[in-house]
Amino acid sequence: MNIIREPKVYFLGRQDIDAGELDRFLADHDVSAWTTDTEVAGEKLCEVAGRVCYMSFARPRPGGNAVYLRHILEVGHGSVLEHAVFSFIITGVSRSFTHELVRHRAGFGYSQLSQRYVDESQAGFVEPACIAADPELHAVWTQAVESCRAAYARLVEGLAARFAHLPDPTARRKMARQAARSVLPNATETKIFVTANARAWRHFIELRCSEHAEVEIRKVAAAILARLQREAPNLFGDYAWVDLPDGTRAAATPHRKV
Ligand SMILES: Cc1cc2nc3c(=O)[nH]c(=O)nc-3n(C[C@H](O)[C@H](O)[C@H](O)COP(=O)(O)OP(=O)(O)OC[C@H]3O[C@@H](n4cnc5c(N)ncnc54)[C@H](O)[C@@H]3O)c2cc1C
Repeated sequence: MNIIREPKVYFLGRQDIDAGELDRFLADHDVSAWTTDTEVAGEKLCEVAGRVCYMSFARPRPGGNAVYLRHILEVGHGSVLEHAVFSFIITGVSRSFTHELVRHRAGFGYSQLSQRYVDESQAGFVEPACIAADPELHAVWTQAVESCRAAYARLVEGLAARFAHLPDPTARRKMARQAARSVLPNATETKIFVTANARAWRHFIELRCSEHAEVEIRKVAAAILARLQREAPNLFGDYAWVDLPDGTRAAATPHRKV
């Protein structure tokens, strides 16, 4: 059995700016020389969006993009942060994790591995560290998961025979897998593609990188925050890290739910 103990996070997508179009907009509004000091498109887009609100391109205050975005966080002008968008693929996570993740609605987009179309007979299973650490509990968990996996395989086989009269083999497999998956446990490994804007990622991180969050989602939130802090420090640099007794990390910011 393929047992998984750590999630993996892949940073897939960032934005780009059409510099010619920005220059054309500035020229059309008699702004001759506005620049900012970030190379990160998401950070620059947020600043441009914020400056459009007051047409404050002509005499920017000193401090550059970092100071500009810090002010946005301080005054809670969070809608400006919706213009920066980042995409991740998350693997090695359980269906319990994705059930919690997809509760985050505003500003998020998801595409998840389908258990109707994809055969799960060779699926991996995510074992919580506190179970893995105890040999007796690990044995209980392994036995339960193996039994579910075996039941799934037998059900797929039996249901394939039951739907053998259907002419379309794809429909046949789908009918079998969508019913058989009912016995798969929450521990079943899944993969999910997630896109969210900076405001939405911040809200997710506040709730899920907290010490009160469940361990698996906190690990993912911490990995995403660490990556976003490297990618866009002016948007995510205000979080302070805290080491927790279980070896994981939490993070918190004074600028909550902007
Ligand atoms: C520690 C923890 C424990 C939890 N335990 C449970 C539990 O036991 N049971 C359970 O069901 N859930 C539980 N949740 C999930 C929680 O209730 C939220 O569904 C989840 O955190 C997503 O938060 P959200 O709705 O703020 O996010 P989003 O859906 O991303 O929404 C962001 C914000 O947009 C606004 N918003 C979004 N939709 C609406 C709307 N329809 N109307 C008005 N305003 C809206 C709200 O201000 C909201 O905070 C838990 C979450 C955490 C962090």
